[in-house]
Amino acid sequence: MIVLKFGGTSVANAQRIRDAARIVLDQPAPRVVVVSAAAGVTNALLEAARAAARADTERRAAAIARVHGIHAEILAGIANAQCRDEADIAIADLHAALDRDLEDITAAGELSDRFSDRVVATGEKCLSILMAATIRELGSEARPVFTDTVIATDDRHGAARPDRARTRENADRVIRPLLDAGVTVVATGFIGASAAGETTTLGRGGSDYSATLLGAALDAAEVQIWTDVPGVLSADPRTVPHALVVPEISYDEAQELAHFGAKVLHPRTIRPAVARDIPVRILSTFAPAEPGTVVTRETTSDRIKAITALRGLILLTLDVAELEDLAPAASAAFRVMHERGIEILTVSQSSSRRRMTYLIDAVGGGCPTLQAHLGEALQDSEASVSCEEHVAVLAAVGNGAASTASALSRMMAVLHRAGVKVMATHQQTSNVAMLAVVADDDVARAVNAVHDAFIRPVAERRARRQRRSELMAEAVRVG
Ligand code: ASP
Ligand code: MG
Repeated sequence: MIVLKFGGTSVANAQRIRDAARIVLDQPAPRVVVVSAAAGVTNALLEAARAAARADTERRAAAIARVHGIHAEILAGIANAQCRDEADIAIADLHAALDRDLEDITAAGELSDRFSDRVVATGEKCLSILMAATIRELGSEARPVFTDTVIATDDRHGAARPDRARTRENADRVIRPLLDAGVTVVATGFIGASAAGETTTLGRGGSDYSATLLGAALDAAEVQIWTDVPGVLSADPRTVPHALVVPEISYDEAQELAHFGAKVLHPRTIRPAVARDIPVRILSTFAPAEPGTVVTRETTSDRIKAITALRGLILLTLDVAELEDLAPAASAAFRVMHERGIEILTVSQSSSRRRMTYLIDAVGGGCPTLQAHLGEALQDSEASVSCEEHVAVLAAVGNGAASTASALSRMMAVLHRAGVKVMATHQQTSNVAMLAVVADDDVARAVNAVHDAFIRPVAERRARRQRRSELMAEAVRVG
């Protein structure tokens, strides 16, 4: 059994959905398809809900018209009258329920997270109906399944956490019999339900996560994430024009890449796959014959595979005069950051044990605010705090390779030669990434220099090898 997930741009209109449906039918059954809402629909629904809360009927109507327009265009692309009419009725029901929810929101005069989730879920629900109808039209039995009957979550609306055991039971009850009967299941991404039966969502971009959750619940042989990029790239192509697709990476590497800013996978996506050892393949709907990237437990190569960077961070340094002052100062700093909901990306301690550095997400107010809060918390201690804004972290990710001291010193030399000032370095204890903290303005130069040194030569060798084997195949054919 395989799971195939299609994101917003891959289901944006009738033509794309048809292309996606063909990709589905090219795979052996049993199949579970997971769809997100069509591109733009989730945002339009949120806008309608917010407008409804303000009783702004004009804005609400405009946003809803956009949603209707997108769904109508897709519906019109279904040529088979029976498939189209069935979908039309189901969608009209969902649109009517949506209107009632928006009325309730206006009556309440505010938008609760609970209602927000109900409203946005409409996007995925409509898409599952449209995709199932398209697959049926192409000649294969398919049925939509709304995952607020399958994915069990807590009641943190907007960012719900799944309960894997209950989800597994639900999947066995709701999805398994359909698969056994030869039906292709088209499940909604992004949504689940709380124990009270209220629809929840898994956080923006959460459909990837739905795909691996369902894959794990059903013991899938593979989860395929079909998207608009050809796979995991060795760097952001806007920064590094000759970045290339990484053929295979490990779960750890993928998680590290997501953590340090690579956009291709939702950070939580990999977790359910890791638990059940399910390969996750990232593929492009625009180039379906390309091999993409496969994410598995282990990979055969231990090179640096990708360079990523996160900008707009803050580097906070805590200095103490005496060794014994560090622990109380550090714990006060942790408490302040925790209380303020500040995300800490990495922490490191100098070998003298008199200094801690924290790399954190920029917060409202930046350094002055942060220093004020910390100053208060640390007033009884001997610690001094310094803070630097507009910093970035560059992460060179590669299992094994990142664990050698020589790789780190080589990276430092490369950055030095490129004229990049390194403010701090860090080797992840996981040995999966080497980090260098640099100024925001130096990111492009830094990423290119490290990519040129660690990845480009390997890529060029690979390209030459491939070219050679193509030429040989050609020669055999000609000969
Ligand atoms: N449609 C949802 C969103 O836009 C979920 C997803 O795209 O994965 O956030
Ligand atoms: Mg989306």
